[in-house]
Amino acid sequence: MVDQRRRFFLRSAQSSQQQPLPWISDSELFTEHCTRCGECQRACEENIIVAGDGGFPSIDFNKGECTFCYECAQHCPEPLFLPETHLPWKQVVSIKDSCLAKQNIECRSCSDACDTRAIRFQHRLGSVAQPEIQISDCSGCGACIAPCPVNAISMEQHP
Ligand code: SF4
Ligand code: SF4
Ligand code: SF4
Repeated sequence: MVDQRRRFFLRSAQSSQQQPLPWISDSELFTEHCTRCGECQRACEENIIVAGDGGFPSIDFNKGECTFCYECAQHCPEPLFLPETHLPWKQVVSIKDSCLAKQNIECRSCSDACDTRAIRFQHRLGSVAQPEIQISDCSGCGACIAPCPVNAISMEQHP
């Protein structure tokens, strides 16, 4: 059963838009002790927590962004979440080749959605401006994901 649970977790961690919850550092501990009670899902004011594979809670960035309010962690009855003083996660975005700007079509929707200005557009000779990610400025909030009209932004684990 545990192996099957771990597979569910890893699959959602690898999926482009469904991610593990913030402040979860140990996937094994999570899948062993999460009871799938749904308290975190009900507590999230952004409504971005969904029941993912196997009923385990996952973040769905197609529904919005994480504001790092820590409500999910506070409502969890199990000792699964790191203290709020820790980094919520080590993930940053990457932009796939299906990005409209990479296809030479003007678009800056992701940059417009990014409060920390982690996605900046640089002018290039012979093409429309191209996006560049400043990894150090990306909080992994996911705000840029839903506005992308071609679903070209995915979240990656940052080493
Ligand atoms: S930190 Fe807040 S916004 Fe982010 S998933 Fe948890 S409850 Fe939702
Ligand atoms: S509140 Fe905790 S135990 Fe309940 S589903 Fe969310 S993470 Fe799992
Ligand atoms: S995940 Fe958040 S901080 Fe990172 S590029 Fe997207 S909007 Fe900006």
